[in-house]
Amino acid sequence: MSEPTSEKSGINISPILAMARRAADLLAQGRDVVDLTLGEPDFASPEHVTEAAIKAARRPLGYSPSNGIPELRSAIRGALLRDKELSYGDPEIAVGCGAKQIIFNAFLATIEAADEVIVPTPYWASYPDIVRLCGGKPVIVDCSFEDNFQLSAADLAAAITPKTRWLILNAPGNPSGVLYSRDALLELADVLRRHPHVFVMSDEIYAHVRYTSEDYVNLAAMAPDLRDRILIVDGVSKAYAMTGWRVGWGCGPASLISRISAIQGQNCTQTATLSQIAAVAALGGSQSVLKERAVIYRQRRDNAIAILRSCSLLEVPVPQGAFYLFPRLKVRKSDMVIAELLLDAGVATVPGSAFGSPGHLRLSFATDMSLLEEGCRRIVTALGGAK
Ligand code: PLP
Repeated sequence: MSEPTSEKSGINISPILAMARRAADLLAQGRDVVDLTLGEPDFASPEHVTEAAIKAARRPLGYSPSNGIPELRSAIRGALLRDKELSYGDPEIAVGCGAKQIIFNAFLATIEAADEVIVPTPYWASYPDIVRLCGGKPVIVDCSFEDNFQLSAADLAAAITPKTRWLILNAPGNPSGVLYSRDALLELADVLRRHPHVFVMSDEIYAHVRYTSEDYVNLAAMAPDLRDRILIVDGVSKAYAMTGWRVGWGCGPASLISRISAIQGQNCTQTATLSQIAAVAALGGSQSVLKERAVIYRQRRDNAIAILRSCSLLEVPVPQGAFYLFPRLKVRKSDMVIAELLLDAGVATVPGSAFGSPGHLRLSFATDMSLLEEGCRRIVTALGGAK
């Protein structure tokens, strides 16, 4: 897979988008390709969201404050209280064009030349590039298959230097689907207490896409004394299948939030007012779609795993959240070569190297069941090694 780069470090086309584009090109040429690349829910926005947006579109829609319409900040506060039992004030909330822009704004607001950002693997492919674009240095910490893809307290402690500005924690993780237990978070908190210069970016965009019956736990709830150093990042993209609306938010200390909002204001002013109104409806309306869709995702996950596990060349962990499988390849060839081979065999995946974990593949199951099953069967056939 070739990645176009420019001279400025960090300006790379996302390898996920690059693979998705290749799959789309092949499909446009009439080739039969099952695309398992993108983390994009295949559902429509909830009906009450669409209705609210249609109604609002008939009214004048002007600029909004750069940190979002007051109704949205209020809905975000309500959702945090309802879903995570966390209470944040109005000045502690920033709104942007998706979680991605909040992450970007936060790094731009805080990273000084060559500041370090700890990025545990496997990571969402955009993190290192965003860090580099903001003038920072990603410090990649390997979290292996054997470690259940979790950052340990010891590895965190070893990675922190005087230049460390941020630690990124993403749970459920993309692509691992991993969640952190209460104990694991408490151990990380102990390390962070010893290093008061380190901030934590807690990317919780998949918090609603979980397959366990336990409550969601995050660092802010487990270590309230660290709250002033934690930025919770979330949005409507994944939970409510609203990727295209572009609404995300950050919740954290007011001093950081005001800098994030200042950057937002100088960048694109605000995310679309209509999208903000839609997000208010998503957060404030019926939450039943969340559970209904989690059941559907779970069924897809289980069916896909059952097919993939029939291949002796794949080790397939069961993700606890998000909508990706991240099998380990038990083959000599590299994940990049295997992804090419699979594309030739009619299924598009993303090689683990894109997430800092070579030797794996990422498959999205945010896709229709029959396509997903067909894609998995093609993988098993192409790899051989049927049990
Ligand atoms: N964080 C993670 C881990 C993601 O996987 C994604 C999207 O794929 C984002 C953030 C960005 O989400 P948004 O659509 O809100 O910008």
